[in-house]
Amino acid sequence: MKKIQMVDLKGQYEHIKEQVNQSVLETIESTMFINGPSVKSFQDHLEKYLGVKHVIPCANGTDALQIALMGLGLKPGDEIITADFTFAATVEVISLLGLTPVLVDVDPKTFNIDIPSIEKAIGPKTKAIIPVHLFGQAADMAEILALAKKNNLYVVEDNAQSIGADYTFSDGSKKKTGTLGHIGTTSFFPSKNLGAYGDGGAIFTNDDELAHTIRGMVNHGMYIRYQHDVVGVNSRLDSVQAAILDIKLNLLDFYNESRKAAALKYNQRLADQPQLITPFRKGDCDAHVYHQYTLKLIDGDRDGLVKHLNENGIPCGVYYPIPLHLQKAYTSGHYKAEDFIVTLKIVNQVISLPMHTELTDDQIDFITDTVKAFLG
Ligand SMILES: *Cc1c(COP(=O)(O)O)cnc(C)c1O
Repeated sequence: MKKIQMVDLKGQYEHIKEQVNQSVLETIESTMFINGPSVKSFQDHLEKYLGVKHVIPCANGTDALQIALMGLGLKPGDEIITADFTFAATVEVISLLGLTPVLVDVDPKTFNIDIPSIEKAIGPKTKAIIPVHLFGQAADMAEILALAKKNNLYVVEDNAQSIGADYTFSDGSKKKTGTLGHIGTTSFFPSKNLGAYGDGGAIFTNDDELAHTIRGMVNHGMYIRYQHDVVGVNSRLDSVQAAILDIKLNLLDFYNESRKAAALKYNQRLADQPQLITPFRKGDCDAHVYHQYTLKLIDGDRDGLVKHLNENGIPCGVYYPIPLHLQKAYTSGHYKAEDFIVTLKIVNQVISLPMHTELTDDQIDFITDTVKAFLG
């Protein structure tokens, strides 16, 4: 059996090696390292894939979030509601811009932002909601969009973990996550579902004016060369990364299907474990692209399980071990433990098993057998 990895980037590369190497070499030969034709080509292909009017590539997923908030023209003191249980990048950019993050609890089943908690947190200074489609699963967008509309708020979707997922509305119509709110953002960090061989990110919107504003902002606030109309940043997707992503975008649905197949196999193999809650998914499989395969261990020794897996050569992860509202950088006297009942509980229950496009059945058998041996 091949050595088990949390993410097998090498195994994935082996299948596309010739095509990638040729494309990278051509890009280098062209010497158009910045804003070369591969960037525009990838942008066009991603717009088509997502069914969104504008994709603005940028340097990474954190920049994408920051630039999205800059594009909305938010002012210091404006409050932004986001989830307590997620990666820190979301709350980080809110704070960096002098905006006020308002962290709220999550849903115990989906791990995504909890709708009643959002409703409770909306106040006169609230300007936007940032749902994170966590671990590959779409947040409850219909409810979030309805709340936003009612309260005149922007919705910025952090889609770093869920590119390719579909959200299905009650009438059966579907849209790609990241294209439902005013702005969506994503990351092409190597381990993400659509990963580059370095850093990368993108911003999505259907709003022409916003797209224009943001395109200038990623380029030093220039709309005409050497004329700086707004304060911008320098955030670009480089041509080599775009060339690689353009190849991998063709395989994104296939990659996501491979993840789903691995997740279903895990579910089957772990179904007889009463202490384990396998990942919830709403309706059909389309709403989950399994960036992570995250279990909850109820009334068990989660840290002991992590140690047991590691000792048997199986990597695993705890995403995320500390609620954001308890992080030194983001804590605030306003937060009360009773408002974070779910997050405070699940940070001690969650464990993410290896999840990638190259997992084999014998690897999943070995991983699940090792989990079961520990649980007894
Ligand atoms: C990875 C990630 C980011 C940040 O992306 P980078 O490209 O690493 O800057 C932001 N939000 C979430 C939820 C992520 O998983």
